[in-house]
Amino acid sequence: MATVPFENRYAKILEKNPREIVLLRGNGCKWRRCRFCDYHTDFSLDEKANYELNKKVLQQVNGEFKILEVINSGSFCDLDEETIALILEICKEKQIEVVYFECHWLHRELIGDFKKRFAEAGVTVKLKIGVETFDSLFRESYLDKGMGNANHEEIAQYFDQVCLLQGLPGQSKVSMLKDIETGLQYFERVCVNIIVPNTKPILPDPQVIKIFKEEIFPLYKADERVDILLNNTDFGVGI
Ligand code: SF4
Repeated sequence: MATVPFENRYAKILEKNPREIVLLRGNGCKWRRCRFCDYHTDFSLDEKANYELNKKVLQQVNGEFKILEVINSGSFCDLDEETIALILEICKEKQIEVVYFECHWLHRELIGDFKKRFAEAGVTVKLKIGVETFDSLFRESYLDKGMGNANHEEIAQYFDQVCLLQGLPGQSKVSMLKDIETGLQYFERVCVNIIVPNTKPILPDPQVIKIFKEEIFPLYKADERVDILLNNTDFGVGI
């Protein structure tokens, strides 16, 4: 994936759980090994340039839904300090009550202090993790996700929401349903991403996607706790 243009970095999600969403730029995912992901190429080591870009993106936030989702093709800790301080400032100014950030398993021990920092200003931080599946053997041997054999209970000790990746070769109706149900049981919200082809080796399985669309999508399309991205740009950000 090439660098995301400015105009694709802010959007409003109006359907379920209405919120504003910003796609910011950090200094890059520290894992970068997931075999399905090329989003992590949207980064820069120039912290000043990242801040200048993020500032312009964040200027569009108006706080109308009281919820802001911040993504950055990596983890919250890849964002520069000035950007974090600005997010906090905007939350206070626009009376935003809840902010979602994303984080890789590697950085889970940083979450507690990060949440505390925002909580001191009256803002609740919720963390989202891309687990892709709770089948750790499939997740690690095929996707190379970098979470070892962490199970749902361990993950739920740190994270509030999970992203799942579906439409992959080897998945079935049973396995996809099991992942969604586990996500709903242990986490506040679940975001299902249907894989789209990119520059990486793992390709969508059209048969599995057909099963998802016909037999799984109808079960959850009205579920307020389940976001479903049939295309990776369905939230209105990214390319
Ligand atoms: S941790 Fe996230 S950003 Fe990093 S390579 Fe994996 S999916 Fe991509």
